[in-house]
Amino acid sequence: MTGSTTPIYRPKPAFDLLRVPGLGRLLRWRWGRLVFQLPLAVVAAVMIYDGLTGPKLAPQNLATVAAWVHYRGLVVLALLLAGNLFCMSCPFTLPRTLARRLSGHGRRWPMALRNKWLAIALFVGLLFLYEALDLWASPWLTAWLIVAYFAAAFVFEALFAESPFCKYLCPIGTFNFVGSTISPLQITSRDTQVCRTCVGKECVNGSAQVLGCGTELFVPQMRSNMDCVLCLDCVRACPHDNVALAARKPLAELTIAAWPRRWDVALLALVFAFTALGNAFGMVPPVYALESALARWLGTTNETLILALIFGVIYVALPVLAGVGAAWLSQRLAGAGSLRVVLARYAPAVVPLGFAVWFAHYWFHFASGALTIIPVLQSFLIDHGVTLLGAKPNWRLGAILPADALFLLEMGSVLIGFIASLAVLRRIADNTHEDGRMATRAMAPWLALLALIAVLAVALFTLPMEMRGMMAG
Ligand code: SF4
Ligand code: SF4
Repeated sequence: MTGSTTPIYRPKPAFDLLRVPGLGRLLRWRWGRLVFQLPLAVVAAVMIYDGLTGPKLAPQNLATVAAWVHYRGLVVLALLLAGNLFCMSCPFTLPRTLARRLSGHGRRWPMALRNKWLAIALFVGLLFLYEALDLWASPWLTAWLIVAYFAAAFVFEALFAESPFCKYLCPIGTFNFVGSTISPLQITSRDTQVCRTCVGKECVNGSAQVLGCGTELFVPQMRSNMDCVLCLDCVRACPHDNVALAARKPLAELTIAAWPRRWDVALLALVFAFTALGNAFGMVPPVYALESALARWLGTTNETLILALIFGVIYVALPVLAGVGAAWLSQRLAGAGSLRVVLARYAPAVVPLGFAVWFAHYWFHFASGALTIIPVLQSFLIDHGVTLLGAKPNWRLGAILPADALFLLEMGSVLIGFIASLAVLRRIADNTHEDGRMATRAMAPWLALLALIAVLAVALFTLPMEMRGMMAG
């Protein structure tokens, strides 16, 4: 028997980051976002410059080291500890005000594209290009990728009235949106009664002086971090100072049916988990054995075609088959809605484990090469006549953790992610079924899927992984 017992959960602003003395004031300040964006814009400019004109060897170039070692390690840490801090500081949206002026009241993003299908395609596409073009090994291509980001963000902001690039297209944003659903902070209203009587709803509509939410989220109805770029425009726009960046219960969002019950959103969660596995698989020896075997079977040496096959299966076919298969079995065993509803109900359970696999992988690279940035920076400055950080780069610098600790970190991350996913799964099943036996039956296929992802992750992390972006590699 099913029940409508899903609790309505909204974070209570018991802790509000925006009320922390000093920091809160900075975040609420009209130019507060610029304080975070400008340094990243400078970093992006230096990366583009070094990528186009600097050393051709990836481990010696700021573009590749900063993008593929540091950015990724720091972004998952920020998502875990605070939230979508990269989107908050995103330099690509810096020209937004200028673009907005150009667009005036530009056209609306087409109705047919108001979903996550394009975002999934671009996210998967970027991960595929990362492998097919060896982006991690090419400072030049990495620099052009950053330029392309700036151009795309500007063009879409200039053409459309809202911010479709962030919400419907950006692969970085897509990753951050899913990752931020496990983050401990969320935008919410301080007092719902104030919102009820609010006339202008400036948090979403904006006013003559300030922009409203670019991704068109309405603060009093927010139950999820999905699509929130943490720009805090809503905070600045609200005339009643009624927006909080509040602490919330761990994993709460994933257990309360906070996401729309749509195929695209549910499959995004599955793709997020399987791309974590696939991205790590691209760096271990079996991928080369598989490439050789496929080349022989198909009688081709076209590497792009072979990689498209391998990653097409891992990034697209497997998440769709595994997700829809688990939902179908769950529905057969316990009912409780259409296939779409069952898939959408349980898909959030894979997010903690998927995030854990991404975290383990990115931190493997970050912890093995974080200090590489010092000789790379030294070398960059020396090449430009500045010996501030020393006259000779110390290329032996690299790891911040020994190999044993790295292995423990990877295993620990997968274990914690698995336990967290189990907890979410149990809660969703219990919220759906009053009968405990039916809840167990409903969650059984998803439990098998989580176990499969965890076992594959452990197997991957026990294999030697390429040390990309480091001199040691
Ligand atoms: S502008 Fe402020 S008070 Fe009005 S609806 Fe938005 S958050 Fe609530
Ligand atoms: S709700 Fe909208 S305006 Fe507020 S921080 Fe999130 S994206 Fe920005």
